[in-house]
Amino acid sequence: MVTVDIQTEKCTGCAHCRDVCPVNVFELRPTSEFPGMVDDPAVAAKFRFRGEKSVAVNGPECIVCEACLFECEGECIDITDDEGNVHHSTYK
Ligand code: SF4
Ligand code: SF4
Repeated sequence: MVTVDIQTEKCTGCAHCRDVCPVNVFELRPTSEFPGMVDDPAVAAKFRFRGEKSVAVNGPECIVCEACLFECEGECIDITDDEGNVHHSTYK
């Protein structure tokens, strides 16, 4: 089974992942729903945090198209495919 993991402290809430995913893996939720969450300062130095965080609500539906991996500002999405290979995000 494919798993989609998000390093939430690095997620800016840009919503790019939700917008590009063809199978609706992601949902955006208010940062207030993540108690104790501290936004990553290294990411905050480069991008604006929008007050929301992405959650991979339909991770098993991922077809590993990799579209989200190139659109993720926080470079915080990791996808593990059926063979156990991990695909990391790199913002382009
Ligand atoms: S790699 Fe998976 S989660 Fe990312 S956009 Fe493609 S189908 Fe969606
Ligand atoms: S693309 Fe990355 S930084 Fe943007 S909302 Fe999705 S997980 Fe967060």
